[in-house]
Amino acid sequence: MSRFLSEKFADLEPYTPGEQPREGRYIKLNTNENPFPPHPSVTEAAEAESRKLQLYSDPECKALRAALAAETGLREEELMMTNGSDEALYFAFLAFCDRHTPAIFADVTYGFYPVYARITGTPYREIPLGEDFRLEPKDYYQAAATIFIANPNAPTGLALRPEEIAGILEQNPYTVAVIDEAYVDFGAESCLELIREYDNLLVVQTFSKSRSLAGGRLGFAAGNEELIRDLNAIRYSVNPYNVNRMTSAAGIACLKQEEYTRKNCRIIQENRAWTAARLKELGFEMTESRTNFLFARHPAVSGETLYKELKKRKILIRHLSGKRIADYNRITIGTREEMEKLIQTLEKIPGIG
Ligand code: PMP
Repeated sequence: MSRFLSEKFADLEPYTPGEQPREGRYIKLNTNENPFPPHPSVTEAAEAESRKLQLYSDPECKALRAALAAETGLREEELMMTNGSDEALYFAFLAFCDRHTPAIFADVTYGFYPVYARITGTPYREIPLGEDFRLEPKDYYQAAATIFIANPNAPTGLALRPEEIAGILEQNPYTVAVIDEAYVDFGAESCLELIREYDNLLVVQTFSKSRSLAGGRLGFAAGNEELIRDLNAIRYSVNPYNVNRMTSAAGIACLKQEEYTRKNCRIIQENRAWTAARLKELGFEMTESRTNFLFARHPAVSGETLYKELKKRKILIRHLSGKRIADYNRITIGTREEMEKLIQTLEKIPGIG
C-alpha cells in the first residue's frame, strides 16, 4: 500500500479471481468458462468492428438492446448492458444500498458480494444457508435490506424456483431484490418474466458462461423501467462507454446463434451428469448442480490437497476459502475429453483411486 491510498481503502480485501495460467498446458476447470469457443460468426463480427476502434462505442447499446429485447420478450427500456455482469452487480450496490438500506446475501455465495458491499460502504448481513447448503426463502422475508441472491447459487450450484423468488419479492415490497442468474441457462428457471409483476426485481445475467463470451465482458441488468433508469444514472456517472464496440458486435451476433448456445448448454449438462456419476463412483459427495460446475468433496482427501494434487498433474480446479466449504472444490464442466482426463487423473491420486 502506498502512503497515498485513501484511508477508506486501508482494509480493502479485493476479490481474488481464479488463476489464469500463462504457461504450461493446464486443463482449466477453475473459472466456469465455457469450453466451447464463440460461434465463428461472433468472432467475425468482433473482428469487423475492430476496424472502427477510433470511434467511441454507443453508450446506449441500442442495437444490442434491441436484439436482446427481441430474444427475451422484454422492452429495450427494461434492459441495460454492462461490462460483464459484475459491473451490473456493482452498479446495483451503488444504486440501491446505503447506510439505511444494507445488503443481505447468503454466507456461502458469490465472493464479489461482500467486496462490492465494502467498497461501496454498504453494511451487510450474511444469512447462513442450511446444513445441506439450501437457501430458505423465509430467511429473506421482511429483510429491510437490498437482497442479493445468485440463482443458481455459486459455488453450491443449487437453485430456487421462480415461485420461491416471487415469495421473497412479495415479502419485501420496499426494497430491491437482485437475482444474479449467471448460471441459469444450465438447468434452472429464469425470473426474467417476473419483472413485469414486481417493480422491485432486478435480474442480472451474463454472456460469459452459456454464451462463451467471458473474455468479451458482457452482461446485462433487466428490470422495471425505473430501476433501469436509476442504474443508467449511475452508469453515466461512472463510464457511459462501458461496453466496447467489439463486444457489442459480438453480443449481437451471438444472439443470432441461440441454437448454437442451446446445443452447447445441452452438451455441458450431459457432461455434468456423466462427471457427477463418475465422481460418485470414486466416493465423492456433491450437491445437485444446476450450473456448469460441480461442488464436490471427498471424505478421504481434503479440498486443498485435492486441488494441489490436481494442479501438479496440470488440472486446475477452484478451491475457495471459507470455513464451511474448506472440504469442497468447485469443478467447472468442460468437454467430455477434459472430464475423462479429470476422472483418470483422480483415480491415480492416493486416497481416491
Ligand atoms: N455472478 C456469479 C454468481 C458468478 O459466478 C460470476 C462469475 N465469476 C459473475 C456473476 C460475473 O460474471 P461476469 O462478470 O463474467 O459476467
